Order: sequence, then C-alpha cells, then structure tokens
Amino acid sequence: MASANPFQKNANLLAPYMQLDQRGKVQAEYIWIDGIGEIRSKTTTLDSKVKSLQELKEWNFDGSSTEQAPGGNSDVYLRPAAYYPDPFRGGDNIIVLAECWNNDGTPNKTNHRHAAAKAMEQAKAHKPWFGMEQEYSLFDVDGKPYGWPKGGFPGPQGPYYCGVGAGKVYARDLIEAHYRACLYANINISGINAEVSPSQWEFQVGPSEGINMGDELTVARYILARVAEEWGVKVSFHPKAVPGDWNGAGCHTNFSTEEMRKEGGIKAIEAAIEKLGKRHKEHIAVYGADNDLRLTGKHETGHIGEFSYGVANRGASIRIPRHVAAQGKGYLEDRRPASSVDPYQVTGIIVETTLL
Ligand code: ADP
Ligand code: MN
Ligand code: MN
Ligand code: MN
Repeated sequence: MASANPFQKNANLLAPYMQLDQRGKVQAEYIWIDGIGEIRSKTTTLDSKVKSLQELKEWNFDGSSTEQAPGGNSDVYLRPAAYYPDPFRGGDNIIVLAECWNNDGTPNKTNHRHAAAKAMEQAKAHKPWFGMEQEYSLFDVDGKPYGWPKGGFPGPQGPYYCGVGAGKVYARDLIEAHYRACLYANINISGINAEVSPSQWEFQVGPSEGINMGDELTVARYILARVAEEWGVKVSFHPKAVPGDWNGAGCHTNFSTEEMRKEGGIKAIEAAIEKLGKRHKEHIAVYGADNDLRLTGKHETGHIGEFSYGVANRGASIRIPRHVAAQGKGYLEDRRPASSVDPYQVTGIIVETTLL
C-alpha cells in the first residue's frame, strides 16, 4: 500500500533497491548549514571508498535557493570539513560535512565554523571540551505538536520528563532510531531523555574537543531531520515551539578546560564564569533568535536581561552542577543557548571569552 503521507518514504517499496550492489561506487551526501540555520544536502557518486578528507572534492550549489547568495552571483562552494559513515545508506557510503565559501574566497555569512576553528586552534593547549544538550520538539506534518489530541491539549507538564508508559511518552521509536543511527555514524552521542513538555526530547553529544563539538552536533541534527522525515514527523528547534505554559527548548552547553578538570579546577571554573558575566550581551546576541521567548526566568531558565550563576541552580544563566561543586573540579553549564543555536557560534564565543 502506498504511504498515506506523501513526504514519507515507503519502506517496503524501497528495501529491495537498497540491497542492490553498488558496483564499488560510493554515495557521498554533502551536508551544510543554510541561510536560516537549517541543514541542506545533496549527493555525489565517488569511484571508490574514501580513506582521507583530502580525497573529497570541493563542490558547489546554488546559494540563491538557500538564502546564502544573490541570484546574480549564486555559486557557493562546499569545502569538506569532516566525514562520517552514512547510517541511511550503510556500506562505504558517507556523510560529508562541508563549510560554505563564497567565490571571492571569503567564508559565506552562514559559515561560523571557519572562525570557530581558528579560535579552537588558538586555544587548543587548554584542551576545551564541550557537551551540548540538544532539546527539540516534534510536530505532525499538519503543524500540530506530535501526538497531541486534535483540537485539544494533553494534560499539564509533570509526567513527561523522562516519562515511561503510554500517554506519557511520544515517538520513542523515532528517537531510538536516531540514537542508533548516531552511534553508527561515529557521533559521540552520550544520551537521550524525554523532556518536560510532551513530544519534546533531548539528546546529548559530548564531551567533544574543540571544533568536533560543532561538527558532531550538526551531523546529529541532520540525522534527526532525516529519521523524522521517514516517520513523517517535523522537528522544530524553535526555542519556544509551543506558546503557553509549556517549557521552551534550549541547547545547554557544558564546557571545561584541562585546568577545570584537574584537582582544584573549581577556581578556573569560577574565573571563567566571571569572564562570561562581563560579556552576557555579546553571548546572548549569538545564542539564537527568539530566545527572549524562552529566557523569561520561568520554566527552568534565567532571565535574558541579567547574568546569574549558581550551584545546582536551573534558574540561572550558568549552573555549576552539584557534583562539580562537591568534587571541586569538572565543568560549567551555560544554560542560555536556544535550541536553534549555531553550535560553532556558541563554542566559539565561549572559548573566545574565557581563553583568548
Ligand atoms: P543535565 O543534568 O544538565 O540535564 P546532561 O546529562 O543532559 O545534564 O548533559 C550533560 C552534558 O555534559 C553531556 O553532554 C556531557 O557530555 C557533558 N559533559 C560531561 N562532562 C563534561 C566535561 N568535563 N566538559 C564538558 N562537558 C561535559
Ligand atoms: Mn540534559
Ligand atoms: Mn533538558
Ligand atoms: Mn542541562
């Protein structure tokens, strides 16, 4: 039977084709961040298995169709930055994460990876580690929150966070598929949990060092969008995807340096927090659009207008986890970034503010 949802692939029809021999050729899915921060991709055929990044060609696309270039000068270049096993095609097929470059040799306005990679290079002696907690919300293709009763609302928040059981948890199959696909792709995915609002979830990536954080989070977002596409479900990274008394979605960014992870590292953590406090506005400026709808001081957030921090305080800008305070070393959690944040911008500015 044909799929009722035109956006959904028909697994039964596709399966025999996916088993056909590729005759030694490899499919490389180039992915990049577009003009509105979403991921785009296109595929090219390679003659053989890829063994190093250098083997991958620079490619290009029509930037006027992705809000990345004007129509009169539309070519944007894709420079391979990293590659991963492709969980959708399997075998030797790969996902290629690419940076966007303009034809005059400057980074495209969407390419925040380039500046972040420079900062990471300058700060590499500190061995900066990040762990990002990506929250997101699921929607039906008709635009209603996924699984919510049509024309009504689910019961108030309470049973859904880390919920188990029918009526408390939504789309576990999709989430499970994403988790396994990330593991297959060598993404350092460290966990998942159902979130406070129904059909809202979180996955965590990290700890990952330097520029790898942004790379792995970007690929994990791509994999999520692809898996959800097969389920006929939309993923929203909007920080307040459902208005009203429902938790918004953030992308808490955990951060440490070698010094913070060593005995007595709490001193370095406190010094970093002091520096972060002095640049609150600059950070907020790159922590994602519409974040003011989320950082209200309610729903486990600190208010967007003021910087605060505290041990185990989920209503602060920066939280020092209880176990970190107890051990006197570890990491800090920046709770301000919106779920839609560009991971290169957040990791880049944290390194810039605290280490450079
Ligand atoms: P929360 O209690 O805030 O929900 P999570 O368990 O969801 O915390 O996420 C914690 C994150 O912190 C994970 O992404 C993990 O990789 C990251 N993390 C753990 N240790 C470190 C560290 N030393 N430096 C940076 N990030 C870390
Ligand atoms: Mn978390
Ligand atoms: Mn969370
Ligand atoms: Mn957190």
